[in-house]
Amino acid sequence: MTTAPTRWLTAEQLGPHFDDGGPVILVENHAVFRRRPTHRQKAHLYLSALRHRSRSGGDRVALVTADSYEDALRERGLTGESLEVVGATSWAVRALAERLGATVLPDRGFVTSRASFAAWAEGRKPSQLVMDRFYRSVREETGILMEGSQPAGGQFSFDHDNRERPPKGAATLGLPAPWTPVEDDIDTEVRETLDALEADGVHFLGSDGPRRVAATREEALAALDDFLDVPLGDFGPFEDAMLAGDGVMAHSRLSVPLNLGLLHPLEVVERVVAEYEAGRAPLGSVEGIVRQLIGWRDWVWHLYWHLGPDYTTSSNALDARTPLPASWWSLDSTELAAELDAACLSSVLTQVGREGWAHHIPRLMVLGNHALQRGYDPAELTRWFQGAFVDGTPWVMPANVVGMSQWADGGVVATKPYASGGAYIDRMSDYCGSCRYNPKKRVGEDACPFTAGYWAFLDLVEPSIRGNHRMAQPLAGLRRLADRDQLVAHERARTHY
Ligand code: SF4
Repeated sequence: MTTAPTRWLTAEQLGPHFDDGGPVILVENHAVFRRRPTHRQKAHLYLSALRHRSRSGGDRVALVTADSYEDALRERGLTGESLEVVGATSWAVRALAERLGATVLPDRGFVTSRASFAAWAEGRKPSQLVMDRFYRSVREETGILMEGSQPAGGQFSFDHDNRERPPKGAATLGLPAPWTPVEDDIDTEVRETLDALEADGVHFLGSDGPRRVAATREEALAALDDFLDVPLGDFGPFEDAMLAGDGVMAHSRLSVPLNLGLLHPLEVVERVVAEYEAGRAPLGSVEGIVRQLIGWRDWVWHLYWHLGPDYTTSSNALDARTPLPASWWSLDSTELAAELDAACLSSVLTQVGREGWAHHIPRLMVLGNHALQRGYDPAELTRWFQGAFVDGTPWVMPANVVGMSQWADGGVVATKPYASGGAYIDRMSDYCGSCRYNPKKRVGEDACPFTAGYWAFLDLVEPSIRGNHRMAQPLAGLRRLADRDQLVAHERARTHY
């Protein structure tokens, strides 16, 4: 009689679509918190999710605590035919599965397969792997939001219509508070574990606080219901807007349960599209979500594998070597308040310290933009985003940070560096009104570090980006600056933001 193999599920594979009913092992590895600085709330989320999954799985699901995944599996004789894994969630998991001789099943948890991406990418130059073309091909293949051969509404993307400024004078979007879970005894025990780890010298980023996001399948479905009931309609128009007093706005935060594997992206897509078809949600909002799920999310997943295991550590096209400030690695609110005058940076970093989350525009246009302008090391920045954000998985950050935000791959993921000045932040947020800097000023003691930083960045990297036709206009603007030397000297000497 043969025994069914035990399936090792990682903390990113906790939903029903990863489980076929056989024996399951989950590993709670505390040593990762010593190796990789992690937000306290992310550590809480992962341990809570694993323990809830173990409890709901009954005797069939074993949860073991260990300082090494490999030791935990070997000690239980789980090698060779005794062990199976679903795809791999990182290069490290893939290498471990190979060392253990485990059976590797096809990936789950994404809309498209690796084979379909490989077929799409075949024959394309790296610079032709752009997300818009991939997204369009997935829409056509799956028929999602398609009316025959045509996209619903006559266009594939409504991104250009989804760029409303925040409502003038409003501190919030005025939506009800987003769904949050009710903590239970497992969360209490997790908090005790984390306190013990801290007492034993483990350094966590940010602060403890109530768990804000879903850690179980039931909670994930409740968070999805809440998003469909309330903010979905406002998601599209205000997708890019930022408000200091409303960090969530109309964003779903469903990336968290999606990246824990508690929801399948297609079930979210089906529910969102059903809202549009029933006339309860506008196409712009629905298409925005669909693009994030079947376009961006799958594309970033496939790029993780396509670009190889050394992509993060070997990409530094702009030769950025500045270490991250110590305050980014602590996310201590007192330290941040004492160090930062820039209202945008201070607000976003304080939110990340408090919640382990901020939506995609503060990530890209405030944190990423600042890091790009100041030459932060892209590999270190990627590690930081992975540790500081509750949805930061090993596969999701490389293309987003190295490629999109820092242009460190020289143009594979993004066609140009995503640098911008304070005018963008002023237009899309309410940060500047309370700031000691002036977004219109590029020289002087109140010169905005983003506005001046933008020009100083272009000055620094001009030789590397001169051949990029999308940068021709900004570089022409740089050459016309009458105060270029003064501005660059001031920004090179700047130590305070
Ligand atoms: Fe940020 Fe500059 Fe606006 Fe201040 S003035 S909030 S530093 S963009």
